[in-house]
Amino acid sequence: MSSLEGLSNDQPLIDTRKLVRRERGFEVELPRHLAEVDSRRLYLGRACPSMFDYCVKVLGFSECVAYKRIAVARAGRRFPGLLDAVQQGEVHLTGASLIAPHLADGELEPWLAMARGATAREIKQRIAEQKPREAGPNFVRKLVVKPPATPASQSRVVRSKAETETAVPLQVKTNPRPTNDSAPAAARAPHPEPLGESRYSVRFVADADVHAQLEELRDLLRHTIPDGDVGKILAKAITELLERVKKQKVGSCARPRAPRASSTKTPSRHIPAEIRRTIWERDAGRCAYVSRDGTRCGETGRIEFHHQVPWARCHEHAVDNIALRCRAHNHYEAELAFGAEKMNQWRPGSG
Ligand SMILES: [Zn+2]
Repeated sequence: MSSLEGLSNDQPLIDTRKLVRRERGFEVELPRHLAEVDSRRLYLGRACPSMFDYCVKVLGFSECVAYKRIAVARAGRRFPGLLDAVQQGEVHLTGASLIAPHLADGELEPWLAMARGATAREIKQRIAEQKPREAGPNFVRKLVVKPPATPASQSRVVRSKAETETAVPLQVKTNPRPTNDSAPAAARAPHPEPLGESRYSVRFVADADVHAQLEELRDLLRHTIPDGDVGKILAKAITELLERVKKQKVGSCARPRAPRASSTKTPSRHIPAEIRRTIWERDAGRCAYVSRDGTRCGETGRIEFHHQVPWARCHEHAVDNIALRCRAHNHYEAELAFGAEKMNQWRPGSG
């Protein structure tokens, strides 16, 4: 028998109210601490490139909860009245996270008035009435492709053919990712894991110029893509762009030359392609920052080449001295080497 079963009918109600009041205290105390971790960028030393990564990977929050708490933490730092309202039970945490992105535009009180005592759905509706969106957001969504009952769907210029969609939004590279920036961005969902026949619905809003270029491409590619399928055209464009960007970034090419040297003394900051390629392959295209407890960052976005002994001191590009870093960790280590003040004066790109 549970210790609660012997209580009178009133007691669980009284105790639950007490627990909710105590929980509100934590709901407010936690964002205050998160804001401190965020503003001091303490997550970097824990092998996380952003506050969002820290909340998900280290603190174990779900993506949705991480987004809400970061949004409230950042807004609460600028508008302490928001946290007071949560603590008093006037606005719930979800409500606070919904109005948080709009607070930069104006005063706190009108937004609090809108959210007080309202359900999350009511708050969303009121925000939508005040700030109607002109167009839907860009997104990438995983599709459940049912086996071959229907022919393969074909994307079209005007409207994609309807397909069965899961409710799970996946990584949106076209949306801002939550980073160190002051405004919390859209929640960073996990990277898509292509499995077998998995496919993704990609939607974006194009302006008239892009639409005209797409139409021109469809006509020019008729000999290789006779049906003018936009999905096939974009796949081809993405493959070619990826190859070009990788060539610029990593120095990869169809038949790479064998590396001639593992280091080179040079007055130029430019890292030779052979050395860049060797490092990229060794670090698997991921940030190789490792925290004191042995955790590797592993971020794949905004990757830069980082000199462990700063290039300004050694004037040498050596494979053993260079490693991949995400931008956050590249800056973090440069600040450790030169000091934040110096870095603010220099603001170097990489290295
Ligand atoms: Zn990193």
